[in-house]
Amino acid sequence: MRSSELFYPTLREVPSEAEVVSHQLLLRAGFIRKASGGVYTYLPLAYKVIKKIENIVREEMDKAGGQEVLMPIMQPAELWQKSGRWEVYGDEMFRLQDRHKRYFALGPTHEEIITTVVDGDVHSYRDLPLLLYQIQNKYRDEIRPRFGLMRGREFIMKDLYSFDIDDQGLDVSYRKMYHAYNQIFTRLGLDYRVVEADSGAIGGDESHEFMVLADNGESEIVYCDNCDYAANVEKAVCTAGEVQQNDELLPLEKIHTPGQRTIQDIADYLKVGKDEQIKTLMYNADGELIAAILRGDRELNEIKLKNALGCNELFMASEDDVRISCGAGFGSLGPVGMDLKIYADLEVAVMKNFTCGANLDDYHYKNVNLGRDFVPEAIIDIRNAVAGDPCPLCEGQLKLLRGIEVGHIFKLGTNYSDAMEATFRDQNGQSCPFVMGCYGIGISRTMAAAVEQNNDENGIIWPIPIAPYHVIVVPVNSKNEEQTRMAESIYQILQQEGLEVIIDDRDERAGVKFKDADLIGIPVRITIGSKALQENKVEVKKRWEKEVELLEIDKVAVRVLEIIRG
Ligand code: ATP
Ligand code: MG
Repeated sequence: MRSSELFYPTLREVPSEAEVVSHQLLLRAGFIRKASGGVYTYLPLAYKVIKKIENIVREEMDKAGGQEVLMPIMQPAELWQKSGRWEVYGDEMFRLQDRHKRYFALGPTHEEIITTVVDGDVHSYRDLPLLLYQIQNKYRDEIRPRFGLMRGREFIMKDLYSFDIDDQGLDVSYRKMYHAYNQIFTRLGLDYRVVEADSGAIGGDESHEFMVLADNGESEIVYCDNCDYAANVEKAVCTAGEVQQNDELLPLEKIHTPGQRTIQDIADYLKVGKDEQIKTLMYNADGELIAAILRGDRELNEIKLKNALGCNELFMASEDDVRISCGAGFGSLGPVGMDLKIYADLEVAVMKNFTCGANLDDYHYKNVNLGRDFVPEAIIDIRNAVAGDPCPLCEGQLKLLRGIEVGHIFKLGTNYSDAMEATFRDQNGQSCPFVMGCYGIGISRTMAAAVEQNNDENGIIWPIPIAPYHVIVVPVNSKNEEQTRMAESIYQILQQEGLEVIIDDRDERAGVKFKDADLIGIPVRITIGSKALQENKVEVKKRWEKEVELLEIDKVAVRVLEIIRG
């Protein structure tokens, strides 16, 4: 490909709307352009990367026994009504009506469609297992579309659905996908980790996420410094810690704390540590007001709380509702004398003589003790893990990392097949629901994650397996015929070797060509300058190294192949 013909509109300025590096670089390097918030056009360089990612994914899905299909983006509302998700999916679903006023969804995911197809045509256990997948656009009206391709409203996903006879079958399918995903992210050349994940609203029991490590990642990952334990923050198991053995229970004291509302206020005013206080958070859980209490310096994890309560909807209660029920505003709440269900974090049960609000504005209690002063409905793990927490599996300590979720695998069990009455006949002629799993990879997000992980101050550094082109050949002075002739000859030779090559044949200064080559992140640059003429030598430079190699012209192809093919 000739630079003069390639459509890659690079920008000199960092676009102001782009917060994260991958978004900035993909815009600046002329890979993507925005149509609307979270909706993008993939320009030629980007689409080459996307196709490379797709092909690696496709090969591994096929190897694992998957069969590729293509399902409709437009999905009739009836299928979603049947699974019960038409209501549940809420505002994240794009909905539209046809001329007959019938409702459709733009597919955010495809369980409903695939389950209907399989139910219609698979009748016997002999036809199972069945693994069907597609690579296609998905539509989700995210509350906060952001970071470019990272969280789009239209994005490319690979989704595979497995159908098995029973749980053992599902185990086998799940292991196959787990293995295939590891193959994929290794082949893509990305530094990633697999973590235990919460299966969230989709239901089911086992779930793993594949996280590309990146400092700006949206997800927080917890891992053990000693064993293989790794989980996302929602799932990470927190323990209670040691019981404070020797402290005797002191008498409860009510203290006037005018104007003191936050944990920090109380820490300063009463000189008690944040870890000697508890905070009380009020939630509306499926319409019922409840209190969640945890140590003052901890963060509540709403997903853990929601799972523990088993509720459908959970949101923070309004201060007005709280005042009516508890007689005090947010700054003065506490479990003592509270007439609501109280859910206490595990740590609260091992704390002694703590401080908390008194359910009376401007008053707090000191020396509160669980059991003596109040009895919670349940004692559960509802806080976020923090660095230094003990590992739930070994003697090690937990550490934190940030990552980008690029893949997610779930065991669905019979959640969908039950709801949609999708069944087959087993060996005894009995009707049984399909046992299902679903397995997603964000293709477009993976491209963004690759950039987020692999870049420097000059631009993108594509991992070789997904680089849009392998090599860029740069004649320093395009007016010099000899240089141009040599560049053209190297360009031809490398292409004949099966490499994907760009030649920068533009009439630009060398500095501009080098800047652009770095910005778009081509792994190998070959520079043909005056040395080429005097000594018959050209420069070979890897994008991720500072040094250049000076090579005789007839050795270049072998060297470049070695770098690219490893
Ligand atoms: P998230 O927690 O990031 O919203 P999710 O749990 O909704 O993700 P899944 O439904 O499991 O995601 O989708 C499978 C994969 O699709 C994700 O692992 C991610 O890589 C990708 N993905 C999900 N939502 C988006 C989005 N809005 N933009 C780009 N990729 C996405
Ligand atoms: Mg989501």
